[in-house]
Amino acid sequence: MSALDGGVRPTPLAPMEIRSAFKRRGLLFVLSSPSGAGKSTIARMLLAEDDGIAMSVSATTRPPRPGEVDGEDYHFVSDERFTELVASGAFLEWATVFGNRYGTLKSEVTKTIEGGRDVLLDIDWQGTQQLKQVDPDIVRAFILPPSMEELERRLRHRGTDGEEVIQKRMDRAANEISHWAEYDYVLINNNAEKCRELVHNILKAERLKATRRVFLHDFVRGLIG
Ligand code: 5GP
Repeated sequence: MSALDGGVRPTPLAPMEIRSAFKRRGLLFVLSSPSGAGKSTIARMLLAEDDGIAMSVSATTRPPRPGEVDGEDYHFVSDERFTELVASGAFLEWATVFGNRYGTLKSEVTKTIEGGRDVLLDIDWQGTQQLKQVDPDIVRAFILPPSMEELERRLRHRGTDGEEVIQKRMDRAANEISHWAEYDYVLINNNAEKCRELVHNILKAERLKATRRVFLHDFVRGLIG
């Protein structure tokens, strides 16, 4: 049993309740990619199509970009507040990216898992490594851009960042991509809809894994005694 699925639930449930509420062990599904590879679009499409999975909203010290909403895109916090959250053990993982800190809040993940849904995490390779230590059962998918030229084109097209930031993002993209082999699944995003479909297929197959379908023990006992 992982630290995230039942072992650390604050109020213990009676065995029958556990069985009915947790027919399947909740899944932590990590999506990583360099920014501009289309990860946010794919995540948005996946969430719209599958209501069995919800996004973990990270905390960050980065200022909001135009159009970003506090509590939806990120929990935007001050440096001081982030330090407090680290000290109080509020994070499952956190990392510094482009000089800003980003972290996955335990509360976000447990809220969703306890509600019987899977969790989608848009985090970088550093966070993925940490999360794998906390919960070896996570599923990790990496999205590659079709080419570095296309990645740069998408970053420019977004129009949210200045030239200097774009160059930094391109440098960091190469670094992020160098971690591709640490992931369970690696996809090339030639087409967002196709890529969304593949990500969804991965999610659906992972949900069917015998080790996650805890109710099967009882079900099969009912079948064959
Ligand atoms: P952006 O500033 O473009 O929204 O995100 C920059 C990078 O930070 C992305 O690669 C994103 O995956 C990563 N990131 C966002 N939230 C988290 C988090 O909670 N933890 C970690 N480790 N990385 C994150």
